[in-house]
Amino acid sequence: MSKFADLHIHTHFSDSTDSPEEVVAKAKKEGLCCISITDHDTIDAIIPARAAAQNDLEVITGVELSTEIDGKDIHILAYLFDLNSPELLNVLQKAQETRVKRVGLMIEKLQGLGFKNISVDEVLSLSHSKSVGRPHLAFLLKQKGWVSSIYEAFNKYLGENCPAYVPKYKLSPVDAIDVIRKSGGLSVLAHPIVTGKDELIPQLVEAGLSGIEIYYPNYPETAINHYNKIAQKHNLLVTGGSDAHGAAKENTYIGKARIPYEYVERLKDAASKIKSR
Ligand code: AMP
Ligand code: FE
Ligand code: FE
Ligand code: ZN
Repeated sequence: MSKFADLHIHTHFSDSTDSPEEVVAKAKKEGLCCISITDHDTIDAIIPARAAAQNDLEVITGVELSTEIDGKDIHILAYLFDLNSPELLNVLQKAQETRVKRVGLMIEKLQGLGFKNISVDEVLSLSHSKSVGRPHLAFLLKQKGWVSSIYEAFNKYLGENCPAYVPKYKLSPVDAIDVIRKSGGLSVLAHPIVTGKDELIPQLVEAGLSGIEIYYPNYPETAINHYNKIAQKHNLLVTGGSDAHGAAKENTYIGKARIPYEYVERLKDAASKIKSR
């Protein structure tokens, strides 16, 4: 029987509503043999997910880093890195520290808009890690009855160009790729259609990009063919995943996008080459 993997899943350690245990249970129910939890800026879910998975489901290391170049956001996924890598832990710590400070800055802006009764601790209490951000703040605004939906929170206050928006810490993609390589891992360009910056791919490859996420919910066949051609041209590995965020994201769920397990084996071969260098 064919074996499948979903290599892009979030937990409540970043901005999903699912615990690592819920993610593992859903992945098993979907018949997957392998997953990667790729929370934004935190790897805290990986050990609890492995504990829940036991021997029935493989959990490979993953994380999603937000990078920026020329004012454009590029999400870089990292896989198969060493969980104790000092270089990676250093970057994650910096990202988390600035996220916590940023919540304070966004709250100051909200207070300036008249929303006085709100504190950083209230936001932190909604998060299971220091990878806290706008989704937690949006949830709190809704809980307080100041907006009627998460959509309204982003649309009126928290979205880019909105009055309570504060940008977060972002590496350049080249620096992110470098840190990931030093941690023994592979860098993969996440959801290239969402990113919409194909012209940057050659310079990312030059910097050491290893792969591209081609299988993603609702990507049309034409896009998959397009990115497969780009992958072939640049000798990139191909990955895929659902980008599931539990109840926090519509139109996807664990296993909605899945790749044959042979693709994971190719990633492992490439990572072992990086580690032996
Ligand atoms: P942050 O990393 O704190 O800037 O928050 C980014 C996260 O907020 C994304 O990963 C999404 O989960 C969520 N998000 C971004 N824009 C929206 C939106 N318009 N509506 C709902 N959630 C959003
Ligand atoms: Fe997210
Ligand atoms: Fe992303
Ligand atoms: Zn994601």
